[in-house]
Amino acid sequence: MSNHLKRLGDIFGSFVSKDFKRKRLQDESVTDGKPDEYSPVKLKEFKNKNEEIEENEFMSVDCFVKRVATFTDFCWCRDIPQLSPLEIARHGWASTRDDFMVTCDSCNQHLSLAIPDQDSGIRDSCINTAVGRLFSAHGEFCPWATTSSPAHLARIEVPDLEVVGRTAANIAQHQERLPYLKSCHVEKWQEVLKKISKDNLKDIDDERVKNSACILALCGWRPGSLEDTLTDVYAVRRIGLWNFVSIQDEDDILETQRVAEELGHSLEKDRCILPEGKEYLDPVTEHVSWHPLLQNLESGTPAQQYIIDQLCKGPSATCLIDKLGRKDSIRAIFKVRDIVEQW
Ligand SMILES: [Zn+2]
Repeated sequence: MSNHLKRLGDIFGSFVSKDFKRKRLQDESVTDGKPDEYSPVKLKEFKNKNEEIEENEFMSVDCFVKRVATFTDFCWCRDIPQLSPLEIARHGWASTRDDFMVTCDSCNQHLSLAIPDQDSGIRDSCINTAVGRLFSAHGEFCPWATTSSPAHLARIEVPDLEVVGRTAANIAQHQERLPYLKSCHVEKWQEVLKKISKDNLKDIDDERVKNSACILALCGWRPGSLEDTLTDVYAVRRIGLWNFVSIQDEDDILETQRVAEELGHSLEKDRCILPEGKEYLDPVTEHVSWHPLLQNLESGTPAQQYIIDQLCKGPSATCLIDKLGRKDSIRAIFKVRDIVEQW
């Protein structure tokens, strides 16, 4: 156990003094408004910085998405919901792309979010400590030390079907090169598909292309910046279409099966006739494990099912989203996709 405690100390030790300072700041300055021991200059700097950030960063979906976009390393797919890149970014941190090190643009502090394995016996306590660090590891005068972006930014959003329609039209440009989606991935979206305006897709003849494009858009995919790629809304997960069985491939597979049957051969499993190196795309599980679509709601409902249920409710669902003020945030997330790509 002493080794474990030492490792814990190594991971978090350097932040103990900052913790103490922040606590003092909270106790004596921020919370009670009596920053006597701080010079007016410092206080002014703090206030200016705070107001500036409050206006621009805390509420900014653009800035949030940019921070999330730094968590490209698969090491973050470690299934610790409290320390998912979405939660970390919500507290002002961005990945340095150096293991589990994150940094804050406002105060330039660094924080290690390395967590020991389950067999260490201290994993849970380390997670709790690290969650506290999301606030406390910020610098003394950093506004992120006391505030974070709204929690709903890290949760699943019900997509706007207008935006989905436009995104689907862009995805559909790939035509039969789009992934062929198995019926199990299409059927659950059938009712939602009926609600998407096909105006943007009227030039597409193949229903499978339309459905694939719409479901991919509903599942948060959009065209990537590189040719023949798709990416999630954070530009973290990028997939090449060439890695998946396409609609064209599926036609070829069916044709092969048909000919084989005519010749009296039996092809037992489709696996043996899949194009080499390709597999069928699952539009949900292909996301990084911390993607909101792969999470469960507090009620235990899978996020995907929640979205389907909400969208199937029709206009009333849209009204609810408007009421909650969430519609704009997902719309904004889609709007910033080009900014993120250029960033
Ligand atoms: Zn900070």
